[in-house]
Amino acid sequence: MSAKGKDSGLSVKYPDTFRVKPGTEVKLRQIDADSTGDCEDRACAEQELAELTRRLAELQLLMFAECKWSLLMVLQAMDGGGKDGTVSHVISSMNPQGVTVQQFKVPSAEEMAHDYLWRAHKVTPARGRVVVFNRSHYEDVLVVRVHGLVPKEVWSERYDQINDWEEHLAENGTLVMKFYLHIDKNEQLARFKDRLDDPTKHWKVSAGDYAERALWDQYQEAYEDAISKCSTECAPWFVIPANRKWFRNLAISRILVETLASLNMQFPAPSVDIQEIRRLYEAAAKESS
Ligand code: ADP
Repeated sequence: MSAKGKDSGLSVKYPDTFRVKPGTEVKLRQIDADSTGDCEDRACAEQELAELTRRLAELQLLMFAECKWSLLMVLQAMDGGGKDGTVSHVISSMNPQGVTVQQFKVPSAEEMAHDYLWRAHKVTPARGRVVVFNRSHYEDVLVVRVHGLVPKEVWSERYDQINDWEEHLAENGTLVMKFYLHIDKNEQLARFKDRLDDPTKHWKVSAGDYAERALWDQYQEAYEDAISKCSTECAPWFVIPANRKWFRNLAISRILVETLASLNMQFPAPSVDIQEIRRLYEAAAKESS
């Protein structure tokens, strides 16, 4: 089985909307973070989102039951970009039994003692499961590059390594879908202010956010390279306009539903004789009446 469809005849058709076609040189500045696509306002999105949420839950149950495919969803964004909000609004419709959200923090001593993909590979989804990377192995060509944590000769080799690794996952039945939540610099500041104004968000406030914000252009450049070099046929990047949170949720939900629906997943045939089990049930029901 292959998410590339190479050796199984099963193929995944990733939606074109917001997908970065392989070989495209992405310029984030030219992508409107305010865009709400074909959707006029929040009210028009909400009805569709409710239906998509229901559908996503069904498709995830099918994936879990069929136990053939898995989904690795990567979320990356500038600080305040809405990774946590995406998890709570889009992913929360799924049954927690089949989903794991995995954070990627500054690597531990043990992680540093291994190659940078080790910690990511350990937590990739088993068949039937969904894993959401909230930050990911891409930090190793983002923060690591911007802060010069390893020499250029080292990080510049990583794009090909990441592509090879993701291709390996795809060829073994994992859908690898990567979402960059695209906000602009003004929106980031507005969200930092929201955090200051809302005491329930104070735990998210960090002085480090402002130091990273000062490196906005370097981060955007690093994102542009990562997305341009690593959006492949088998593991696409989607750049989602994310200034409007409701549109971000709608766009991601649409892409997930369209992709998962294209797999034509089926509930497996029962492993027992259902007629026989029905007879047992009827006998038990008779006895207890
Ligand atoms: P988040 O911002 O995702 O909610 P944190 O505030 O705990 O979570 O930030 C995690 C930090 O870990 C980020 O600053 C991120 O850049 C950093 N980080 C993640 N992976 C790496 C890495 N490989 N090397 C260095 N820093 C990393």
